[in-house]
Amino acid sequence: MNIHEYQAKQIFRDYGVTVPEGVAAFDVDEAVAGAEELGGSLWVVKAQIHAGGRGKAGGVKLAKSIDEVREHADDILGKTLVTHQTGPDGQLVRRLYVEQGVDIDRELYLGLVIDRATDGVVLMASTEGGVEIETVAEETPEKILKVAIDPLTGLADFQARQIAFGLGLEGKSVFRAVKFMKALYQAFVDTDASTAEINPLVVTTDGELIALDAKMNFDANALYRHPSIEELRDEGEEDPAELEAKEHGLSYVNLDGNIGCMVNGAGLAMGTMDIIKHYGGEPANFLDVGGGADAQTVTEAFKLITADERVKVIFVNIFGGIMRCDVIAEGVVAAVKEVGLEVPLVVRLAGTNVDEGKKILEESTLDIVSADSMADGARKAIDLLEG
Ligand code: GDP
Ligand code: MN
Repeated sequence: MNIHEYQAKQIFRDYGVTVPEGVAAFDVDEAVAGAEELGGSLWVVKAQIHAGGRGKAGGVKLAKSIDEVREHADDILGKTLVTHQTGPDGQLVRRLYVEQGVDIDRELYLGLVIDRATDGVVLMASTEGGVEIETVAEETPEKILKVAIDPLTGLADFQARQIAFGLGLEGKSVFRAVKFMKALYQAFVDTDASTAEINPLVVTTDGELIALDAKMNFDANALYRHPSIEELRDEGEEDPAELEAKEHGLSYVNLDGNIGCMVNGAGLAMGTMDIIKHYGGEPANFLDVGGGADAQTVTEAFKLITADERVKVIFVNIFGGIMRCDVIAEGVVAAVKEVGLEVPLVVRLAGTNVDEGKKILEESTLDIVSADSMADGARKAIDLLEG
């Protein structure tokens, strides 16, 4: 689960990771009042969306007066920001964060991620902060410093110092950096985070280290033990189809292709996407209706798929284990009757009560293309797209 920058900064604050003072705002007046409360002579007005790259897209603006704060807040709020992380449709700005401005000397990068290669948390840092770290990793990988953290001992002082020296920090800044990194690591572990990223981590003209940006992601499977983090969920930032799916107990992930998939079981759903790609197609979604789905669940799943305008063909791939094929077939027929069918439908059924299932589909007189195997289904779906 993703949270906003201002929420991540509050967690940082709680753990002693230095961040600028700031106030979250939901309208322009709140932003102005927040700036007045903060005082000073330089403010930063920042769009709060669950995506980076806001700066380049006009979602982060410096203000030298309260009037400018008002101007920028008015400009940014309600704007749809398109960044390299939002996708082409962009993301509507509904919240702002007003911060005290900081005098920047250097912009660095610091991040904690779960690394599959070392089966643990890795601390990453770079002198190339403030820019897309993905680009740095691709073009100049030697500029990314990494240390693998032992889960039993946590981040050791010598490891943090190694990173601090690698970043070219000197004198007091080294000790500050060690403290900073250890505090960040503690916040990460305590909250079951999956990412904590600071880009940029700035060194001020006084040699102080401050997290100017903050991104945190959490392991959704651990949220049950962090109710205060669960509360930070902003459904406005989440995919409406995915939210709808969750309500009906469906595992659904929106993708970019045009073949809508309805499958039972996560493994089979992955396999279905693989075979579609193998034959040159592109899945429009991952959808696992679960092992215990009934006709109602199937109808809801069908509605989700057909509501997606990009879907040009639907591929239903069901293995009846605990689930019976006749129940699925009934669900498909009921769903088609309820929501209508404007694109071709390919169905592959196998397993328990497969013959009863096929019979239900045949007798329904619906225009359904039957497939004998996964490969056959994938090929037929792709043929129907092209034909
Ligand atoms: P992102 O573009 O979504 O990653 O948003 P960031 O929070 O990283 O802000 C983008 C850029 O705005 C930063 O890299 C800084 O260069 C600049 N910026 C943000 N806050 C301040 C500030 O307090 N003072 C100054 N001078 N620049 C800032
Ligand atoms: Mn940033």
